[in-house]
This record gives sequence, structure tokens and C-alpha cells, in this order.
Amino acid sequence: MSKVLFSGAMIVPVDESRPGFFTGDILVEGGLISKISEFPERITTETEVKVIDAGRLILMPGMVNTHGHAAMVLFRGYADDLPLKEWLEQKIWPVEAKLTSEDIYWGTLLSIVEMLKGGTTTFADMYFYMDQVAQAVGESGIRAVLCRGLIGVGENSATSLQEGEQFYRDWHGRGAGRINVTLGPHAPYTCPPEFLKKVIIAADRLHLPLQIHLSETAGEVEACRQEYGCSPIVLMERLGLFEQKVIAAHCVHLDDEDIQIMARRQVRVAHNPGSNLKLGSGVAPVAKLLAAGVTVGLGTDGAASNNNLDMFEEMRLAALLAKGINRDPTLIPADKALRMATVDGAAALFLEKTGQLKEGFRADMIGISRELPHAVPLHDLPAHLLYSAGAADVRLVMVDGEMILEKGELLYLDEEKIKAEAAARAAKLTGRSET
Ligand SMILES: [Zn+2]
Repeated sequence: MSKVLFSGAMIVPVDESRPGFFTGDILVEGGLISKISEFPERITTETEVKVIDAGRLILMPGMVNTHGHAAMVLFRGYADDLPLKEWLEQKIWPVEAKLTSEDIYWGTLLSIVEMLKGGTTTFADMYFYMDQVAQAVGESGIRAVLCRGLIGVGENSATSLQEGEQFYRDWHGRGAGRINVTLGPHAPYTCPPEFLKKVIIAADRLHLPLQIHLSETAGEVEACRQEYGCSPIVLMERLGLFEQKVIAAHCVHLDDEDIQIMARRQVRVAHNPGSNLKLGSGVAPVAKLLAAGVTVGLGTDGAASNNNLDMFEEMRLAALLAKGINRDPTLIPADKALRMATVDGAAALFLEKTGQLKEGFRADMIGISRELPHAVPLHDLPAHLLYSAGAADVRLVMVDGEMILEKGELLYLDEEKIKAEAAARAAKLTGRSET
């Protein structure tokens, strides 16, 4: 692995022991951040090292996208402004049924291009044909937490859990440790209790976290109350799901009892404000979750319900929604929003030593231009990153100590080829010509 010295950068470490920002150097070796200095102290090395003049960059940890369905970029803009049920049943599920493994491969690559160029260095994914997703992750250099989406009803329910376990055996730890595998029961309304019990036993046996959609819509919670006499969160607690490590996506409709259970069980939340707003699902009670001590990361969800994979946008939405809805501008200040998009997201995905610029941590970092009009003046860097900066400001991306993007250009992926392949496949799937 290469050894890289970033010289003279403005650094936002997103580290509570080093709040705010400072100017300094960062040395990366063996995939880790080995040293950080603060001016006037400088880092000098005697061994050969690639030196990057980072004087025009703001360095921060890479964004961690805690929930999504990457290959759904193929359905970006295909069906918008519809109720969730109609959107799924009449639009999304019919085209998803036509997806081939090759479609998933190219769709995932397109999403990875978008995420890397927008400063995301880790993403979570729940979908199918996951071998192709893992292959795309391995080739691209990005970090990922992957699971096969498990549906516990219908003809494939018996084999889906076996496939999920096999996916773990085939891929966990590959890509030099960048590929992490969990189990992925889709949701309580697609996974009945008997099926979930089997998933829980498998997770316990394999020591794997679980990714699941919980309490996304009011209708889902109401249907659960009618069938089981309790909320989805209480149902999961009764089934023993929360005795495992759980990443719960959405959690929009929660009552106080739900939040208490989630805090006590250390359930991690993937908050997807953009998707929840677009599908008219509501707004998750993030301020209450944070006050209760729940770890909350941020996610984009699939691009079909977003319609982009821009974590700067999700970070800003999370902060602004919490302030506006609670009429309290002090909620989710810039430092906290940055933590949610980085280190809290990594913790939500059960990744260790990831999401901060800190000695001994994985060298996942991004460089943001400080030369754009909206970066002048730069009084407060965390506030700039939250309120002014955007995905298009990203100039440099490093994952696991490897440079993936420099001067805004991807070093290894053929962006033009990926865009052309994905566009052609999307047109074929949806029956719409390319424009
Ligand atoms: Zn989802």
C-alpha cells in the first residue's frame, strides 16, 4: 500500500477530542492514518512518500451512506410523485422483476461513481444479485456493508436465507477487508415472525448484524397494530431481533415506548430524510432519538425515491428538518450533522475505527474545494460543509489509504463507459428511449 502525505490542508477531523478545524498535515500508511500534525508542527518522513499539496482543500472523513439499494439508480426519474404503494406495486416491482445480474452490476457501478464523486466512501446496500454488487465494490475501491434482501413470503422464501448466508461465506472480508456482509430481512411486512425467527438464529450463529426497514410509513405501523396488536418495534423486541446487532432503516413513525426500546437495545438507525419526504412518509423523530442516546446515521435510500445519492443533501435535510419541525435552531448543529454523516454512520453500520480523521483510523477521507464562490469567506468549516458545500465540491477521495479520485477525476473506473452501459440498460428496462 502506498504512503501519502497530505501537506498544509484545512482539516475537519470530526473528532470530539479535536473539535472544529485546524491547518496541518496528515500522513497515511498501510491503509491507516498514522500521523496528524497541527501547524506550526510539520510531519517529515525519511522514507519515500507521495506528497500531495492540499493547501486548496478541506480534508474531512468520507461520508457513510447507511441505507440504500444501489442498482435502483437505473430507475432514477422513472416513477415520481406517486404514493408508496402505487409506486411500488405498479411501477418499481414490475421493472425490478426484469432486472438481470448484469443490469445490477452496471447499475451498482453507476451508483458507486456517483457516490465516490460526491464524497461517499462507504455505503450500505440491500438488494439481490449481490454477487454482482460485491464484484462492483471490489473493482471500484469503495467500502461497503452488503446484504441480500430477504423476503419471507412466497416461493423463494425458503432459499433466500440460504442465499444470504452463502453470500456471507463467499464475500465477507474480501476486497482487502472493504466488503462487509450482514443479513438483510427486508421488513416486518414482508418477513413474518416465523421467518424472522430463522433469520435471528442465523445472525446469532454467524455473529452478523441485520439490516431491516422498520416503521417507514404510518400505514405499515397501523397494519402491524391490527395484525399483532403492537408497533413493529415492539414486535421485533418480542421476537428477539434486538438481541442481535440491528441497523434499522427509516424509523419514521415511533412512539415513546419504541424509542425507549431502541435506546435500551442499542438499535442503530439509518435516517433517510430525502426519501421519506419524497414518498410522503413523514419525518423521523431524530431529535428525540438523539436525546435518548440512539446512534443515528444518514442514508439516501435508493435513487428511485430520492433521486440522487448526495450525502451533503441528506446531511443538510436532517439538520434543517430537526430545527424547523421542533422550532429550535440549536438542534443538530454543524459538528453533530457532520458526525451523523461520518463517524456515527460508521458506528451505525458496526464498522470500527472508521469515519474520523484520527491516528489509527482507516484512511477514508475526502478533499473539498475551498476555491468556489460559495466557499468565500470561510469563517467556520463545519458550518460551511453543512450549509454551503455540496457533492460537486469534492476534488479528492481516498478509501483505505488508496487514492480513488484526484482533481475531481476517478482514477480507476471508466466513468463514460459505465454511464453509457447503465443508460442503455435503464432504457431497455423501462421501455423508454435515452434522451
Ligand atoms: Zn430501503
